[in-house]
Amino acid sequence: MMNEIARKKSAARSCPICGKPVDDTFKPFCSKRCADIDLNRWLSGVYAVPAKDDEDEDGARPADGEAADK
Ligand SMILES: [Zn+2]
Repeated sequence: MMNEIARKKSAARSCPICGKPVDDTFKPFCSKRCADIDLNRWLSGVYAVPAKDDEDEDGARPADGEAADK
């Protein structure tokens, strides 16, 4: 659940937001804009629980074509 935060520890040389080269002034981001974007993401991640991520783990639904014995 907290993987995103731990991931930030290893800052690459490219902006984590847009992938452009990092500017020394705004590192680890390329610009103030991206720094703001990241901050916003982080804040909303803390205060708002991601309700709809990718619906990947949806395997509890019974298949539709399985009623053969009726
Ligand atoms: Zn950027």
